[in-house]
Amino acid sequence: MVSRVIPVDPFDLVIFGGTGDLARRKILPGLFRRFCSGQMPGEATIVGAARSEMDDDSYRTFVREAIVEFGGGRHCEDGTLDEFLKHIGYVTIDARGTGGWDDLAGRMRDGIVRAFYFSVAPALFGDIAERLHNYGLATPESRIVVEKPFGKNLETARALNKTLAQHFDETQIYRIDHYLGKETVQNLMAVRFGNMLFEPLWNSQYVDHIQITVAETVGVGGRGGYYDTSGAMRDMVQNHLMQLLCLIAMEPPARFEPDAVRDEKLKVIRALEPVDYHHIVRGQYGATDTQPGYRDHVENPRSTTESFVALKCHISNWRWAGTPFYLRTGKRLKSRSSEIVVVFKDTPHSIFEEDAGRHRNVLAIQLQPNEGITLGVTIKEPGPGGMRLIDVPLDMTFADALGPEAEEVPDAYERLIMDVIRGNQTLFMRGDEVEAAWAWTDPIIEGWTRRGEVPKPYDSGSTGPDDALMLMHRDGRKWREIRS
Ligand code: NAP
Repeated sequence: MVSRVIPVDPFDLVIFGGTGDLARRKILPGLFRRFCSGQMPGEATIVGAARSEMDDDSYRTFVREAIVEFGGGRHCEDGTLDEFLKHIGYVTIDARGTGGWDDLAGRMRDGIVRAFYFSVAPALFGDIAERLHNYGLATPESRIVVEKPFGKNLETARALNKTLAQHFDETQIYRIDHYLGKETVQNLMAVRFGNMLFEPLWNSQYVDHIQITVAETVGVGGRGGYYDTSGAMRDMVQNHLMQLLCLIAMEPPARFEPDAVRDEKLKVIRALEPVDYHHIVRGQYGATDTQPGYRDHVENPRSTTESFVALKCHISNWRWAGTPFYLRTGKRLKSRSSEIVVVFKDTPHSIFEEDAGRHRNVLAIQLQPNEGITLGVTIKEPGPGGMRLIDVPLDMTFADALGPEAEEVPDAYERLIMDVIRGNQTLFMRGDEVEAAWAWTDPIIEGWTRRGEVPKPYDSGSTGPDDALMLMHRDGRKWREIRS
């Protein structure tokens, strides 16, 4: 199978926070891979911007080291990396200062796509937007890419939307959620809306329930200070899990166009019922022999911030009334795995003997570590000895289907950056979506604070607190095993 690479138009891309962790690990190596694939054109320029004193050459050395470390190792020997580095420049800029902006303006070319990636702390988003405007860098054709977190509640998200709107039109703002850039997430839309097979069954009449799990093995790492003011609900549920929920639950848009898709996602969020607090479990990971527990990690012995959350929610519309959606995410769990699981109902009547077993179809969409989709179907166990039923997976794992080409599938960041250059907002969150998501999340968090709730401890390397298992067991269901 040969995938087509369509080069994007020439562009100027400025990465504010060009010396930061995200730029080093994801943005710069991603751009390099797009360069290697032929998608980034020869006329493109990339300018890093941050406070550190560097010139073009020393930044190129920084970029080279980032790519050698995080670029996957390929193409580095044959001169391609040297070619790529010719497109790189650097400007020393303080987002809150005045120096460097004229230099940056002088490097921008007229008549081509101009994109500004805000890979800095959210507190700087407004300062940068304002200066881009004041120094004449914000042209009608320019775009800004805004990293998460987008606010920490409805009020702050609204304020941020308002600030950005003073200088940029909504069509110029790309709020990035890298989960949406994953191949499988887009494949989810292809599976749902490109096949006759699934859509007629995609409703409460045939679907028993849906599970979305985003499990991490890492703890809070070096982000303890930030994380303790955020927690799993704000850091993961309000954005990544909500976006996945939207894509799995939305109505078919009339066309695969940015606002058509985002309108349907917004309707899902607005149809979410408030969550009963009996249907939410929060947890904090404990220490192991070698690693500290959550509270030690964030250096806050009385912290009530959750590193795990599981909840059951409902969508009040014709399609989903009565179908529960179970969401869970946490740190220091047994494996790194992100998966959406659609569990179909039992057949209305079994024609087989009781001991043949009863089985349900399960569609599992795995986002990481490997991307792929499997459909569990029930067949007869081969061989003599009567009619016994077993479940076998129909496996649509991309690595198998695409062979060596699977390695060429762009990672989420590189795909999304190319979408920015192409001007395609389909996989980016609109301002009203983000606000609607906070409007649903805020009361949950406020409820925890009001009731003085303390998260339940759970063992590192486990599946979270036992109460999360009970959340399902009470309903006669169980979580799909977190597998790597
Ligand atoms: P980081 O490692 O702390 O880097 C911050 C960057 O901002 C550095 O390049 C820093 O360089 C620059 N900076 C700080 N203050 C500045 C100022 N006043 N003016 C200009 N530049 C300034 O942060 P990060 O992890 O890369 O994260 C960047 C953004 O992406 C944050 O919003 C974060 O929430 C988001 N994000 C990160 C990840 C990730 O995996 N890292 C994932 C999702 C979202 P100087 O100190 O040289 O100025």
